[in-house]
Amino acid sequence: MPVAPGTRVPAPTVGGADLPTRSRFDVVNPATGRVFAQAPSVSPDQLDEVFESARHAFGTWRLDDAHRREVLRSAADVLDARADDLAPVLTAEQGKPLREAAAEFRTAAAWLRYYAEIEVAREVVKDDHTGFEEIVRRPLGVVSAITPWNFPITLAMWKIAPALRAGNTIVVKPSPYTPLATLALGEVLRGVVPDGVLNVVTGPDPLGATMVSHPIPRKVSFTGSTAVGRKVAMGAASDLKRVTLELGGNDPAIVLGDVDVAEIAPRLFWGAFGNNGQICLAVKRVYAHESIQPRLVEALAEIARNVRVGDGTDPDVRLGPVNNRPQFDRVRDLVTDAVGHGARVAAGGSALDRDGYFYRPTILDRVSDGVRVVDEEQFGPVLPVIAFTDEADAVTSANRSEYGLTASVWSADVDHAAALAEQLDTGQVAINQHGRGVQVHLPFGGRKWSGIGVENGPWGLHGFTDLHVIAGPPRSVA
Ligand code: NAD
Repeated sequence: MPVAPGTRVPAPTVGGADLPTRSRFDVVNPATGRVFAQAPSVSPDQLDEVFESARHAFGTWRLDDAHRREVLRSAADVLDARADDLAPVLTAEQGKPLREAAAEFRTAAAWLRYYAEIEVAREVVKDDHTGFEEIVRRPLGVVSAITPWNFPITLAMWKIAPALRAGNTIVVKPSPYTPLATLALGEVLRGVVPDGVLNVVTGPDPLGATMVSHPIPRKVSFTGSTAVGRKVAMGAASDLKRVTLELGGNDPAIVLGDVDVAEIAPRLFWGAFGNNGQICLAVKRVYAHESIQPRLVEALAEIARNVRVGDGTDPDVRLGPVNNRPQFDRVRDLVTDAVGHGARVAAGGSALDRDGYFYRPTILDRVSDGVRVVDEEQFGPVLPVIAFTDEADAVTSANRSEYGLTASVWSADVDHAAALAEQLDTGQVAINQHGRGVQVHLPFGGRKWSGIGVENGPWGLHGFTDLHVIAGPPRSVA
């Protein structure tokens, strides 16, 4: 297929330069359902060259922390300055509105700034006449970073910024659905980040599996589905690479009877439908007290009916298309299945009658646990609202998922909500705003099938280091 006129496709960045590739693969614009560009396909053989380049760069990059901080600050300046120019390619391949695409690059800049400033001092446990003991955090070496299609830039930077500040070098592989924005990221940071420190490769799988099995990287930092996360864990086990796995979610929101329904409904709605529900920590199940459940369904449905869905390049659009055909088909199937099990569609429930993968934001009533749309990770613009009578039952329902990423509790009584939050088996619980705890300085990571390890904050950086203890007799005094 020809590349659409005007779509410039950057080459993979390896060793600070273009890596020429022999073959290419199609990239589809989800707003049209048609191929609009072809991305370079890095062969598994070429990965040797890529990882060698990263290993070579590690030799000097690891040595000078002050230099690393300067580089991260400069990279942040570049991304802030270029966010608006870089947004269109992300919208074209991902579907999200342009302002949200630009926000991803600005978020990436904020992450670089945070990690440029964070203190990573060596810890002196003692240093006296009996001897000295120090704990140092050492970089691991080369890191393989593998990312999904929902937030290609934000989630890549959750890995790049802490890995680089800790002294590692990195090879990033985005999803084949969204390769172009990450290629552009690698390209704009050439000359800012030293050659070989930040490398970007693209290609259809099995490239991801080769990123895991290759002998050079010492760590795999993976964000994606639980099914693939398992494969990553197994692949990394053969030579005991470190892994961080940020996987799927099926986030519950528990809404108590004392809330002001009209006041919370917009926040709850956007906690579920931001990025079309294609957020690992989107609200996926609402458990609402029976006294307010009918009013809440109606308030959410009213918002859903009035949201403008369309091409992300239209400035009035709030929700773009679902990112890809399999995801779109899955959303449709899950809604059909729920209706077959007695669900009432309070809003949405169908695709837009046009090309592209557009699905109306959908609110489902008369659903219960045990229906697929409640039990499985559906990762789309659909929200079941389930009535409960006893809080204890809502907590049991919330916890019965195999996933444990985040959750939220909604109540006029914040202390009571916080006490309920303690009972939820997830990495984060937010009160009165889903995702409130997703911030650069707070640890983010799931329990159960939602993953292993955390990102962000000092803990995110620690995941790219090994501890190194040096203990000795008293130091000689010069
Ligand atoms: P996916 O698991 O299909 O793909 C993720 C990445 O893994 C892609 O880059 C893909 O090319 C690569 N990959 C595929 N097979 C591989 C293999 N065998 N070895 C190594 N890499 C391989 O996920 P997706 O569909 O791109 O993204 C959606 C999923 O990501 C959802 O389940 C969502 O919940 C999850 N997600 C989690 C978080 C989080 O922080 N917990 C954030 C965003 C998305």
